[in-house]
Amino acid sequence: MALFVQKDTLASYMKVVQPEAGKGSVASYIPALQQADPDAFGCAVHQGKEKAEAGDTGIRFTLQSVAKVISLALALMDRGREEVFSRVGMEPSGNPFHSIQALEKEKPAKPLNPMINAGALVVADMLQEKRPDTAADRFVGLIQQITANPDVDICAETAVSERNHSNLNRALCYFLKSHNVLENEVEEVLNTYINLCSVKVNSCDLARIGSVLGADGRDPETGEYLIPSWTAEMVTTFMVTCGMYDASGSFAINAGIPCKSGVSGALLGSLPDGTGIGVYSPPLDSHGNSAAGTRLLERLSSDFQLSIFSGR
Ligand code: GLU
Repeated sequence: MALFVQKDTLASYMKVVQPEAGKGSVASYIPALQQADPDAFGCAVHQGKEKAEAGDTGIRFTLQSVAKVISLALALMDRGREEVFSRVGMEPSGNPFHSIQALEKEKPAKPLNPMINAGALVVADMLQEKRPDTAADRFVGLIQQITANPDVDICAETAVSERNHSNLNRALCYFLKSHNVLENEVEEVLNTYINLCSVKVNSCDLARIGSVLGADGRDPETGEYLIPSWTAEMVTTFMVTCGMYDASGSFAINAGIPCKSGVSGALLGSLPDGTGIGVYSPPLDSHGNSAAGTRLLERLSSDFQLSIFSGR
């Protein structure tokens, strides 16, 4: 199957939307993220062995919230659907990603979904419970396997920077702990969560992750299942309903691409025909999504009918 776009066309779309980056701002609440080049812009589209890559696709950046997709997949593989969703919900939140508000309303406390911080902290707790190997090692191992890139690893500098500026996530953890939702100690859970967010990849790695998720969890070269198909289906569904923070609804209307964003400026897109899209552009819009990246996906979707709802 031919890719929907080739390198030169992709580069021309990127040129058109690049000015959007000027309207956004690079995340600063984690000081290490502030060092990002606001003009960096890379996009990779992969489908099986077909690839189109343009711009700064070699620049490495941390996953941040994109990690929530893979950590959920790992928790589902470890513990199964029933146990995971007994501790974290399935509903979109409409609140900012680090909000504590909705947690206070639920009795017993149960984060609304695994794509917001409270939910991802519970997922991190599930990953580390009673396992002899560390959750972060297993997480990095899975990403290395999916991306076929042994260089993927945790960026220690970003992890330390986040750990020193994590009071909001620490507060979420203490709230969860006080309601007996966490089995492990607050600092352990927080460390695991931060390490997962600090895994460094490039846009091509993201495109490959999207391609594997879109191909039911199969390796594009060997066809081997890296993630069970039911898990790939479930995490891509969360990408539609909750992947773009409190702009998930408008993004579903405007682009209709299952997608997860991170405050580093990362965007991971995945289509059911096995197309994966990885974008990196650090300046964020008011919802915390990459400003130029979001616009790029919206333009590509509209011109190439990529929406999963378009009935192609
Ligand atoms: N590590 C970041 C945090 O928890 C991730 C946020 C994000 O990308 O949405 O604040």
